[in-house]
Amino acid sequence: MSEPTISAGDFIADTVRADNASGLYSGRVQTRFPPEPNGYLHIGHAKAITADFGIAEQFGGTCNLRLDDTNPDTEDVEYVESIIEDITWLGFTPNQVLYASDYFEALYQWAESMIKRGMAYVDDQDQETIKAQRGGYGKPGIDSPYRVRTPEENLDLFRRMKAGEYEDGAKVLRAKIDMQSDNMQLRDPVMYRIRRGHHHRTGDAWVIYPTYDWAHGQSDALEGVTHSMCTLEFVTNRPLYDWYLTHLDLPYEKPQQLEFARLELTHTVTSKRKLRQLIEDGVVDGWNDPRMPTLQGLRRRGYPAAAIRNFCTHIGINKTNSRHSLEELESFVRTELNRVSQRRMAVLKPLKLTIDNWPTEDGRTLAEARAAGEETAGMTTWFEIGNNPENPEDGTRKVPFSGQVWIEQDDFAEVPPPKFFRLSIGKEVRLRGAFLVTATEVIKDADGNLVEVRATYDPDSEGGNAPDGRKVKSTMHWVSAAHAVDAEVRLYERLFQVEVPGETTGDPLDDLHPNSQESLAAKMEPCLAPGVNGVDPGQVVQFERIGYFAADPVVPMLFHRTVGLKDEWAAQQKRG
Ligand code: ATP
Ligand code: MG
Repeated sequence: MSEPTISAGDFIADTVRADNASGLYSGRVQTRFPPEPNGYLHIGHAKAITADFGIAEQFGGTCNLRLDDTNPDTEDVEYVESIIEDITWLGFTPNQVLYASDYFEALYQWAESMIKRGMAYVDDQDQETIKAQRGGYGKPGIDSPYRVRTPEENLDLFRRMKAGEYEDGAKVLRAKIDMQSDNMQLRDPVMYRIRRGHHHRTGDAWVIYPTYDWAHGQSDALEGVTHSMCTLEFVTNRPLYDWYLTHLDLPYEKPQQLEFARLELTHTVTSKRKLRQLIEDGVVDGWNDPRMPTLQGLRRRGYPAAAIRNFCTHIGINKTNSRHSLEELESFVRTELNRVSQRRMAVLKPLKLTIDNWPTEDGRTLAEARAAGEETAGMTTWFEIGNNPENPEDGTRKVPFSGQVWIEQDDFAEVPPPKFFRLSIGKEVRLRGAFLVTATEVIKDADGNLVEVRATYDPDSEGGNAPDGRKVKSTMHWVSAAHAVDAEVRLYERLFQVEVPGETTGDPLDDLHPNSQESLAAKMEPCLAPGVNGVDPGQVVQFERIGYFAADPVVPMLFHRTVGLKDEWAAQQKRG
C-alpha cells in the first residue's frame, strides 16, 4: 500500500522517532501482530493490524505475523488459516509468518537457566491456592511452601514435568520475584502449566506449555522485535515483560512494550468469547455471518478492505479507551463504495406496472392485445444507462424495457398522502433512463389486494425527458418484468439494539436485536445474474435509491445489504 497508514501525531510514532534519534535499535524498526489462533479476527484486530503494520511501514521496518499458540486446548489450524487470509485481504503482507510454538525449545532452555539461577521454582499447589495466596492491593501475598526448593530440586522436577511424569495441573513453574510487590503480576507469576491437549503444530511433543507472559516478551526478543504494541489492559504486565527480559541473555536489543486503546464500536461486541457464543447459541450462522463484526463477516457484508483501513487510520492510535460510533465506520464504507461501485436497478418489494400504450411486435398495443384476450409480450427496447456517475470511465450498460416493469410497492399510492410525489392515479413520474409514465388504473385480486397498476407512457419522452420541458418531480427505478432475474436480498438491522451491549445487565447477549435479518424476494435487472457480464461473487453494487448490496461470495443470486445510502454519521455530527 502506498498511503501512509498512521498519522504522524501518534505517540507510538513519536517513541519510534525518539528511539531512532538515540540509536537505541540502530535505526531498526520491527513490530509483530500476535493473535491467538482461537477464533476469527474482528474489527478491533483491524486497528491493531493497521497499527503494527503501519508503524513498520512508516519507518521502513518490518512486521511479522506471530501466532501466539500457547494453549493447545482452544487453538486450531482453522483459525490460523483464517487469520492469514484476513490480514492479506486487509492489504498487509507479513514479513514472516511465525509461531510462539517455534520458540518452545528456546523458552524451555531459558526457563532452565532461570531455575539454575534460583529465579524460578516448581510449585505443587493447585491454581486456587496459588491465586488465594497472591493476595491483593493492601493484602500481603503469602509465600508458597515450595518457594524454598533448591535449584537442583527444581531442575529435576521441571525436567520430569516436561517428561510427562505428572498429571495435568499437578505442578506449575513459577518465577521467583516478589510476593509483596504492589504489582500483582510480579507476585511469582506462573511460567508453565501441564496440559495434555493435542497442539495443532507440535502435536504431542510437549505436555508443558508457557503462559502468555512467559512466551510473549521472550518471543519478541528472540525474533528481534523492537516495538511490541498491545492494548491497554496489558499496562500492568509491562513490569513483568521487562523483568523477564532483564534477566535473560538476549540476541538483540531488549524490545519495549507499548500500549494503546482498544477499539470498541457501538452496537458491537469485540470479544472472541462473546462472538463464539453467538454462533453456539444459533443467533448467527457462523464467524462469517454478515452481521458479525469479524473481518470475514464484514467482508461478506461488502465492507471494502480500504474502508476499514481508512477508518483505522482516521481514528488513529491513542491512549484513552473510547467507543466509536458504528455509523462512523459505515460512513467510511459508504464513501469508498460510492467511488467504486456500479449502479444497478433492483426492486425489493415488487409491484407490476403495465404500460397500456406500449407496442407489441405485431404493431398493436398491450391494451389492444389484452382486449383480444392474448398474452402478447411488448416490444423490447434497450436503454443505455450510466454505471457510475462518480466515475464516467465505468461506462454504460444496456437495460431492457418491454412495456411491463416491476416497481417498488412503496413507490405507488392508491390514496397518496400529502407531498407524495411518486406514482399515483393521474400522476406522471419518470422511469429512470426510460420514459415518463402516468398511472391510469389499479387492478385488484378477488380479495381486494392491489396486484397491478396500469399506465400510459409519453412516446416522446425517451430517456426520461419531457419534450416540452414540463417538470416531473419523481424518478423511480424499475426492472423489466420480461427480463427480470429473481434474487434473494437480505436486509440487516444492528445485531445489538443498544449502543453499549450489556451496559445494563452485564451480558451483551441480553441486548440482541430480536429480528436482525429480513429476507426479500427481489426482481433485478438481468446484468445482475452471474455470468460473463454479470456480477462477480463478492462484488458490491449500488441498487439505485436503495443502498449498497454485496453479492454473496458463494451462493449465486443472494445479496446482502452492506449499508443504506443515507449518511447517518453526518446527520449525527450535525445534531452535535
Ligand atoms: P479477545 O479478547 O477477543 O480474545 P484478544 O485480545 O485476546 O481478544 P488476540 O488474538 O490475543 O485477541 O489479539 C491479538 C492482538 O490484537 C493483540 O495485540 C490485542 O491487543 C489486539 N486486539 C484485540 N482486540 C482488540 C481491539 N478491540 N482493539 C484493538 N486491538 C485489539
Ligand atoms: Mg488474547
